[in-house]
Amino acid sequence: TTAIEAIGLVKDYGRGEGAVHALRGVDVAFEQGRFTAIMGPSGSGKSTLMHTLAGLDSATRGRIMFDGADITAMNDNQLTMLRRTSIGFIFQSFNLLPMFTAEQNILMPLTLAGAKPDREWFDLLVATLGLRQRLDHRPNELSGGQQQRVAIARALIAKPRLVFADEPTGNLDSVSSAEVLSFLKRSVKELGQTIIMVTHDAVAASYADRAIVFADGRIVADEPDPTAERMN
Ligand code: ADP
Ligand code: ADP
Repeated sequence: TTAIEAIGLVKDYGRGEGAVHALRGVDVAFEQGRFTAIMGPSGSGKSTLMHTLAGLDSATRGRIMFDGADITAMNDNQLTMLRRTSIGFIFQSFNLLPMFTAEQNILMPLTLAGAKPDREWFDLLVATLGLRQRLDHRPNELSGGQQQRVAIARALIAKPRLVFADEPTGNLDSVSSAEVLSFLKRSVKELGQTIIMVTHDAVAASYADRAIVFADGRIVADEPDPTAERMN
């Protein structure tokens, strides 16, 4: 089944002569339980696609279907609910809350939703991401790599069905990158999650089931084609 789908998605920044055409009519469907990498040069529209799919940025034209509903027609309250319950984000800038510890940051989505953490899942995330010794630290006491791993744990703690990751390994060394990517891959398998990851790194993209390449606001390559029969 399709987790989320963009139909004729257009995004312009500004109007008239000076408008930037960030998305020029994108049609793409993401299957539930698959890990997709989005690649392409800087400025080609990758972040804009993620932000509009997640309802963080409004579309100029087109539809985004999620769970049978067009999210471009939703109001802010509906979008906020959707993000809290079904969507996780791993941002390029970590967006951690500076006054809170690593543990509090990780648990924040559940705290906001008034939900109890699954302790086993919390422990697994913390162990896999190597954060056990850092739980009481505030973000400014953590390295870039550690902050990124806290942001990843926070994105996964509520077991969202859909996860958006913007350069999730951009601040990690190759060993931590491999651990994080294997973990994301495992999370896709075990939780049936859908992960959409923007990356510049071909090694990171190799962990995904599918790679989409953007250029100038359009999809120019899509491998393997999701409609083609899979060999494994
Ligand atoms: P990528 O993620 O592939 O680097 P982006 O989606 O960030 O590309 O950007 C696509 C185009 O939209 C670029 O030309 C960029 O300069 C422009 N753009 C992105 N965000 C804004 C914005 N808030 N205002 C104006 N132009 C923007
Ligand atoms: P990582 O591989 O996680 O990015 P680094 O190699 O950047 O880690 O950092 C090495 C060690 O230095 C880490 O264990 C971290 O605790 C410490 N460190 C890095 N930056 C800071 C900071 N701003 N404040 C406190 N400790 C830091």
